[in-house]
Amino acid sequence: MDKLYTFTVKTPQTTAMIDITDKVQEVVRESNVKDGICIIFIPHTTAAVTINENADPDVVHDFLMEMNKVIPFSDGYRHMEGNSAAHIKSSLMGFSETIIIKDSRLRLGTWQGIYLTEFDGPRVRKVHAKIIEG
Ligand code: ZN
Repeated sequence: MDKLYTFTVKTPQTTAMIDITDKVQEVVRESNVKDGICIIFIPHTTAAVTINENADPDVVHDFLMEMNKVIPFSDGYRHMEGNSAAHIKSSLMGFSETIIIKDSRLRLGTWQGIYLTEFDGPRVRKVHAKIIEG
């Protein structure tokens, strides 16, 4: 019994990491799947998903600061839309994550959270969550 859920996330500025852990846990609960996997997929080219620490907000700050240094906003890019940095950052981060579900809970580590990462906001982003029992 596989279930697909889609929800939207409003991103506040050009670059941001939005913690979507609670929302994902909510759809896992809604699915009634006790044991299985949850695949998160981001159907965009300038936003992505990652898992990292959600205890200290400075981690997000440092993460975005360093991403902006490694992939600067302007660097003689050719892409006419002017958002090459966002495309590159998104592919580096990746568009999906797979998380184990055990006893109806996401089996994340104590300090782990799931983040939608925005690199060309503010926008409204879609998040797909496919929940597979097994
Ligand atoms: Zn573009």
